[in-house]
Amino acid sequence: MAHTPHSKNFDVIVVGAGLSGLVAATEAVNAGSRVLLIDQESEANLGAQAHWSFGGIFLVDSPEQRRLGVKDSEELALRDWFGTAGFDREEDYWPREWAKAYVHWAAGGKRAWLRERGVRFFPVVGWAERGGAGAQGPGNSVPRFHITWGTGPGIVEPFAVAARTAVAKGQLTMLWRHQLDELVMAEGAVGGVRGSLLEPDDAERGVATNRNAIGTFEYFAPAVIVATGGIGGNIAKVRDAWPARLGEAPKNMVAGVPAHVDGRGLDIAERAGGRLINGDRMWHYTEGIANWNPVWRNHGIRILPGPSSLWLDATGKRLPDPLWPGFDTLGTLEYLRGTGHDYSWFILNRRIIGKEFALSGSEQNPDLTGKDVRAVVARAKTDVPDPVQAFLDNGEDFVQAPNLDELVKKMNELSGEDLLDPAEVAAVVGARDSAVQNAFGKDGQISAVTSARNYVGDRLVRSVKPHPLTDPKAGPLVAVRLNILTRKSLGGLNTDLDSRVLNAEGEPVPGLYAAGEAAGFGGGGCHGYRALEGTFLGGCLFSGRSAGQSAASQDRAPAGWT
Ligand SMILES: Cc1cc2nc3c(=O)[nH]c(=O)nc-3n(C[C@H](O)[C@H](O)[C@H](O)COP(=O)(O)OP(=O)(O)OC[C@H]3O[C@@H](n4cnc5c(N)ncnc54)[C@H](O)[C@@H]3O)c2cc1C
Repeated sequence: MAHTPHSKNFDVIVVGAGLSGLVAATEAVNAGSRVLLIDQESEANLGAQAHWSFGGIFLVDSPEQRRLGVKDSEELALRDWFGTAGFDREEDYWPREWAKAYVHWAAGGKRAWLRERGVRFFPVVGWAERGGAGAQGPGNSVPRFHITWGTGPGIVEPFAVAARTAVAKGQLTMLWRHQLDELVMAEGAVGGVRGSLLEPDDAERGVATNRNAIGTFEYFAPAVIVATGGIGGNIAKVRDAWPARLGEAPKNMVAGVPAHVDGRGLDIAERAGGRLINGDRMWHYTEGIANWNPVWRNHGIRILPGPSSLWLDATGKRLPDPLWPGFDTLGTLEYLRGTGHDYSWFILNRRIIGKEFALSGSEQNPDLTGKDVRAVVARAKTDVPDPVQAFLDNGEDFVQAPNLDELVKKMNELSGEDLLDPAEVAAVVGARDSAVQNAFGKDGQISAVTSARNYVGDRLVRSVKPHPLTDPKAGPLVAVRLNILTRKSLGGLNTDLDSRVLNAEGEPVPGLYAAGEAAGFGGGGCHGYRALEGTFLGGCLFSGRSAGQSAASQDRAPAGWT
């Protein structure tokens, strides 16, 4: 097996060419460091998860919000964050500090920093993770989900361009198919990386690649940044980390991330003395659907739902308030695990699906991803957008029918479990439908939809006027089987505000830094138990920036250093 010894000196080595690694590497270059960036995948995967993302970015008191009449402030955002996070552990010290610093950035310099790099936003700000459990409870009090013009690829692009420019100038070396297996230690400090050179693989972006080692490598630098992502693509690891408070781990889950999100980097950093915290905190979705056109194995897509669909558990019982679509991700997950079934149902109709289903993922939004103004305008006017229609036509989790009886029959056939009693479902739907006859009433969800429509963004593109689900003019009826979809790891390597990885005693492991999902988006879990949406990409930017700058400020590798 070929062995590549160090042939060059580096000041900083970054492991992982996702968003956080790209930001860290380019920040270190900007600070004058000679940087090496390695990734186990091929160059086709540059940007990793962020490429696939919807590009939703959490900003506070932005011009986009103000133009839509949204009053927001750092204070309100911080209250929402802490109400959502529920920090309650001794090890939450740094995560709290990161949360405060991040919200401050989101309300301050973040937008300008992104704009300087060419990032622009869709003018209608989305309201994801609405909460619904009171002003101090979890959720965003106001819309803060700013969709990047160009979605995921649009947020990756400036950093990919900067990285390639740095390569051309000889300031950055990028090595693909280089899999980290071990951090090199010398006298208690991290001083390099050691790993396997993987066989070339021409699989397309997102498709799992081979792990055949054809050689080994080692490179040295006084600072190494671990930016290897979380565990969401490793279902076995997700199950192992599944906390008892969320009930039993589901038997069936769909994967919301590619296979490279395997968690190995975290274990490697832990073996080098880094402290992994909050591994039991994770952010999985309950609105996952099997991708009819999968890129990776078991590929699931998350529906970012508007508020109107009726949510039933597998046996046909309506979910309790405020577990309405798009309100409380973790609360819904916790509740549904208690039902003993891995799936639940949305009942809706063609009018609702046409306006209220956003599918999270760059490839599911070709208009926004392609920065195609005409197509975006056409989407707003269309009955059902093409990507959603494709799921209606081909998705294994979708059924349609002209009436409720037939719909329930098809739902029972789809699940193969016969758990739904047509009369009970008809009673639930009938009660809900009767609540739309007045502009006031006691149905919490209908009131929430009415309130959401006071926000112009929701009225325009995200919520339909309350109407009976069974209104034939809004039909046919649609039912969607919803699976649990793995996505983000909220815990990770415990880091201080300089992104230095801490050991069990709370002291920095010399030479070791972490960024992005591997660092729990900062601190080892700046979200606590639950997250506000759009804060993951932003967490990668913020922690990548800090890690790159801090690592670059460490002593340089002396000339001839090996
Ligand atoms: C479909 C989808 C939609 C999303 N939408 C949003 C959104 O709208 N807003 C939001 O805020 N967030 C969103 N997210 C989440 C966000 O994209 C991710 O949390 C973020 O991109 C993670 O970036 P990262 O750099 O930390 O890790 P990753 O993107 O996972 O990159 C890690 C890199 O490290 C490499 N690596 C791992 N282990 C090793 C090793 N041992 N050796 C060498 N290389 C290694 C991997 O190959 C990979 O390239 C979405 C995610 C997905 C998948």
